Amino acid sequence: MATQHVLVVDDDDALAENIGEIVAALDVDITVTPTGAAAVALATSRPIDLALVDLRLPDGDGTALLSRLRAISPDTEVVVITGDASIESAAAAVRGGAFAYLLKPVSPPDLLDTARRALAQVALRREGARLRRELERSERTNREVVEAVPALVLALDADGRICLWNRRLEELTGYPRDEMIGRPGRDLVGGGGVRPLPTRAGGECLIRWERAEVVPASVGEARIYAVGTDVTAEQEMLRRALRAERLAAVGTMAAGLAHEVRNPLNSALLQLQVLGRRLDRGDATPETLRPITGLVEDEIRRLERLVSDFLAFAQSRPLQLQPTALAELCRGVLAFVGPEAAVAGVRLHAVLARDLPSIQAEPERLRQVLLNLVRNAMEAMPGGGDLTIRTSHTRDAVEIEVQDTGQGFPDETPIFDAFFTTKPKGTGLGLAIAHRIATDHGGTMRVRSRPGDTCFTMSLPIPGAG
Ligand code: ADP
Ligand code: MG
Repeated sequence: MATQHVLVVDDDDALAENIGEIVAALDVDITVTPTGAAAVALATSRPIDLALVDLRLPDGDGTALLSRLRAISPDTEVVVITGDASIESAAAAVRGGAFAYLLKPVSPPDLLDTARRALAQVALRREGARLRRELERSERTNREVVEAVPALVLALDADGRICLWNRRLEELTGYPRDEMIGRPGRDLVGGGGVRPLPTRAGGECLIRWERAEVVPASVGEARIYAVGTDVTAEQEMLRRALRAERLAAVGTMAAGLAHEVRNPLNSALLQLQVLGRRLDRGDATPETLRPITGLVEDEIRRLERLVSDFLAFAQSRPLQLQPTALAELCRGVLAFVGPEAAVAGVRLHAVLARDLPSIQAEPERLRQVLLNLVRNAMEAMPGGGDLTIRTSHTRDAVEIEVQDTGQGFPDETPIFDAFFTTKPKGTGLGLAIAHRIATDHGGTMRVRSRPGDTCFTMSLPIPGAG
């Protein structure tokens, strides 16, 4: 702390000097002036912490000086010193704001004690003022930072009402701060992530919000800070890129589909031509026609399967998520294929974890994945074998395995490609569909295969984890 400054105002040189000597024990700067005018001049040029003022001065009384000193610096404390005669006016001076009065002859311990207390008071008050200034400065800096950063900054109070709306937000939305402060704001930022932000002009921007929750130090303080970036343009580009990608994929798929459709069509056509010739020749008995209609029927069924698989693959209907218990789903699928498996000599096994967390999924689609995997597994074991469905979970995902003891397939086989099939009546869409459904759920599908052990694993995220 800076050295404090004491001013002694007394026209009696000896007395003034004496007072100065006593106060010097307090380690302060001391100035002595004989008149009120000189005291005022000095107080305007440098701050005075304490003035020790004789009540009777050559140019007026100490009470008037008290108010002038206070006008110059409200922090200054004044102690009036007086003889017996004017004790009344000294008391009046204290009522008017003087720190204390001392009677002449001044007792050095009294003077020291009074001066010390007055100086401590001034020091305290000055420190308080300094802290307040510092706080204001840091608040101003924070405000400037919030205004200057090239980001959208928003704060919500404990009630979810907007208590901070920075300039960028004003510029982007057209809504001035005055209008926004106090409005409910939880919907604007939600739980973070990309959200639409309405603009005054009636449009909307897409904002990616990062939220920080702050435990309030006092009631009414901001609870949630959110920093946003305008991603409207970015999202639009992404949308276009996805669209272009999807169009390209549709082209590839259409070519594949056309190829797949042509095979059964050609073969059905050929069979019908054979049938026609037989009819022309009059060689049409149930025995000769039956096999032909059977073949045509087979091809038509294949076409039908192709169309429904293709639709399942191509239609990107949004998922309808609901809490899904996987164990139940797995048991249901196994029960469904039980009769087929029995005929094919396939033994079914279920190894289902008991503490499996429930996940968010569309059960019907997961059932479709499992059915596709289980059918493939059975088709891979024409002479019979073992088929196992196993569930497990890690910290952030549940896993479902479908394992078989069939021949497997060599590495690098493009089994997940649409229309890839090694089966005479296959569509090659089963795994493409399964893969698509897994990724639509935010999950993955992987596989390992060697003769006698092929295992497909679907991994699905546990909500709220990771
Ligand atoms: P599809 O079953 O109509 O052929 P999929 O997409 O379901 O079409 O499977 C593609 C190909 O992947 C199959 O034709 C087969 O060659 C191979 N495949 C799939 N699952 C297995 C399996 N469990 N064991 C061996 N090969 C498999
Ligand atoms: Mg299949």
